[in-house]
Amino acid sequence: MVEVKEIVCVNPATLEEFRKVPNCREEDVRIAVGKARKAFDRWKAMNIKDRINFILKFKTYLTRNINEVVELLSTEKGTTRVEVILADIFPTLEVIDYYSKNAERLLKRRKLCVRAILGGRSYVEFEPYGLIGIIAPWNFPLSIPISHIVPALIAGNVCILKPSEYTPLSGVEIGKIFREVGLPEGVFEVVTGDGVTGSIIVDYVDKVFFTGSTATGRKIMAKAVQRLIPVVMELGGKDPMIVFEEVDIDLTTSAALYGGFFNTGQVCASVERVYVHESIYDDFLRMLVDKVKKIKVGVGDVDMGALISPAQLEKVVEQVEEAKRRGAKVLVGGEKIETLKGYFFEPTIIVDVDHTFKVVKEETFGPVLPVMKFRDEDEAIALANDSIYGLTASIWTKDMNKARRVAEKLEFATVMINDNLNAFSIVQAPWGGIKESGTGYSHGEWGLYETVRIKHIREMGMGVKHSWYYPLSGKYEIVLDALKMLHGDLRERVSGFLRFMSKVKGVKKL
Ligand code: NAD
Repeated sequence: MVEVKEIVCVNPATLEEFRKVPNCREEDVRIAVGKARKAFDRWKAMNIKDRINFILKFKTYLTRNINEVVELLSTEKGTTRVEVILADIFPTLEVIDYYSKNAERLLKRRKLCVRAILGGRSYVEFEPYGLIGIIAPWNFPLSIPISHIVPALIAGNVCILKPSEYTPLSGVEIGKIFREVGLPEGVFEVVTGDGVTGSIIVDYVDKVFFTGSTATGRKIMAKAVQRLIPVVMELGGKDPMIVFEEVDIDLTTSAALYGGFFNTGQVCASVERVYVHESIYDDFLRMLVDKVKKIKVGVGDVDMGALISPAQLEKVVEQVEEAKRRGAKVLVGGEKIETLKGYFFEPTIIVDVDHTFKVVKEETFGPVLPVMKFRDEDEAIALANDSIYGLTASIWTKDMNKARRVAEKLEFATVMINDNLNAFSIVQAPWGGIKESGTGYSHGEWGLYETVRIKHIREMGMGVKHSWYYPLSGKYEIVLDALKMLHGDLRERVSGFLRFMSKVKGVKKL
């Protein structure tokens, strides 16, 4: 096989080639790792306020140069500039705000309340791992890696980012901004390349934050196991939207389109399955289809842009074709858009499908919404939970008691009531997946604690001789009394205490 030395950046909406970046290999990774490791000690020793200052300067630079950054991302992804602002820039700024305000407090040494019988003091300290490897996808090439980079750097780690081969320039841009704001050399390194590059990185770092497909996540996890390094995995989804009978149909159909088609349906948390109560199913579909027909697809100031690659387009085509072959009905859309140059697919509503269809079972990652009906609450819950994925789900109803009841029964890491997609932008909340949607968290305190080792320090004064030091022979009664004193019923606790104290008399301190 011929080794690809360069990656050509192509605008997926126009097929214009606009830049090239190196497809890095072992030697390049090793150089970046060397620089990062060299920078670690000084970065870690720096006051956290100074580290936060660099992150705030990043924010200032980004907001001052917003139009150029938006243009770059929109060109690289082939999606609209509005989408870039909403899903890449906005969460990035929110993440910076949240961690610059809260990280210092959350990372302070914390005293623990421990049993007096053990004596001494215990506290935890949060230490950076060292070198964090971030392997990123293309769908939000700024906000996703930033969600890991910002807490990791503030906590005192150094980072190496491997952006997606489809959006390497967004990663290069992050590196450029950090250079512009004077971040010390080596603290943040970018290595461009394909999956092979990503795989090499796993061999060198102390922890991996991976966001991408479940298939790739499995490979990375298998490799990480060999070195016993921890991983955070943010993987695929097949997110259901449950629409109960008492909804406002106008609002809910608009929400379904936003949830299903935003970023051309290429969001891990996209609505990928809609379940509508049978009593409103026909009205819901009528309004949904009318609205889909008005969606403007193309380049520039439109509603929906392109898919990222020919492979992504083919995956969408294959799922829709399989559904058609098996008798599903396409109410609107269902075809590639041949009149446009890039990788475009029509926004599509598809019915008469069930859980044996690929378009209902597998992640589509495109502008296709299969809509199905349900009879009652239990059936809606069962259908929603019938998936290997567990990223997000949404419930739509005016009945908040019902919504909360259903939310408790849904097997997803995030459940939204009368909202969808937006949970990723709520950076105070944990973001993660269950089942095959991943493990570990970003955002909030949970995302911060993923970037640190939690060290327990236990302090005893010199001269404390525990009564359980050798010899152990003859001490059965005393340890039994201690146990009863701590865990018995009220009577046992009192008598255990009295017996225990009388026996340990003479032993210096417990
Ligand atoms: P992908 O798995 O193809 O690639 C992701 C990254 O992994 C890329 O940088 C790629 O170069 C790298 N990679 C590929 N093979 C590798 C290997 N063997 N070792 C190490 N790195 C390797 O995913 P994608 O197509 O870029 O992204 C789309 C997927 O990401 C979808 O499944 C989507 O649901 C998921 N996603 C999940 C979240 C989340 O938060 N859960 C967010 C965004 C995207």
